[in-house]
Amino acid sequence: SAALRAPRPPRILAFANQKGGVGKTTTAINLGTALAAEHKVLLVDLDPQGNASTGVGLPRNGRGEGSYALLIGEKPLATLVCPTAVPNLSVLSADNNLAGAEVELVGLPERERRLQQGFAAAAEALNAYDYVLIDCPPSLGLLTLNALVAADAVIVPLQTEFFALEGVSQITRTIERVRRGFNPRLRLAGIVLTMFDRRNNLSELVATDVRGFFKEAVFDTVIPRNVRVSEAPSHGLPVLLYDFRSPGAQAYIALAGELLRRERQASTAEKAA
Ligand code: ADP
Ligand code: MG
Repeated sequence: SAALRAPRPPRILAFANQKGGVGKTTTAINLGTALAAEHKVLLVDLDPQGNASTGVGLPRNGRGEGSYALLIGEKPLATLVCPTAVPNLSVLSADNNLAGAEVELVGLPERERRLQQGFAAAAEALNAYDYVLIDCPPSLGLLTLNALVAADAVIVPLQTEFFALEGVSQITRTIERVRRGFNPRLRLAGIVLTMFDRRNNLSELVATDVRGFFKEAVFDTVIPRNVRVSEAPSHGLPVLLYDFRSPGAQAYIALAGELLRRERQASTAEKAA
């Protein structure tokens, strides 16, 4: 039973890509919501824009302290986490000071490990979650670095558009650098193709191109471009709550299923090795 289960640290996944507008936040919110159907999930908003916080129902003026207070103020995680409209999904929101964190971090000791240390100091609170999903800002600065140092794996959302492959090497090189310098267990969990447009030949070409290059690192599940997905945040809801039957919501449910399958396969392979 759950009560007898030994405490186990959560899987920590970072959503990163230095490009903005590729679907990092949308994927973190909706994959998180899909996972929350069966797991306890913590969403960590590390983007000063705070779109992940807004998207799960915490408007800018309705938030207290969050990730900034953890990173810079060293406040305990458990005092900063808020519930959301989604059962089993909690959030560490982006506080309004977070915009200054990129600069403030530069002068702090262990500036790349602040999030990792904040998590380590809160191990007991953190063990209540099965998954921690970190939404990164659109840059490869210190906030994203903190996410990659604290994470087990990275999910890279990639918008299915003409220049999709350009810039992916930047994030993969950063992952390699973090692995060598800070966090040897970090791996690429996968690349998610987002905003796929079936009526557009280009989308198909780009998807084929990305698969040709990154092979099985690319999730089979593709997220379609769907207006319901883009409407949901203005209601403070994940698309799974806003319109469960929409193609976007169903795609994120499929993505969660594929992720869980992949994780099971990876852990079986590890045990066998
Ligand atoms: P990022 O976090 O990488 O900057 P977002 O997740 O905020 O990207 O997505 C950028 C914009 O695209 C947002 O306005 C979002 O609502 C919209 N969007 C994301 N995914 C989809 C989709 N599958 N269909 C339609 N619009 C989408
Ligand atoms: Mg974002």
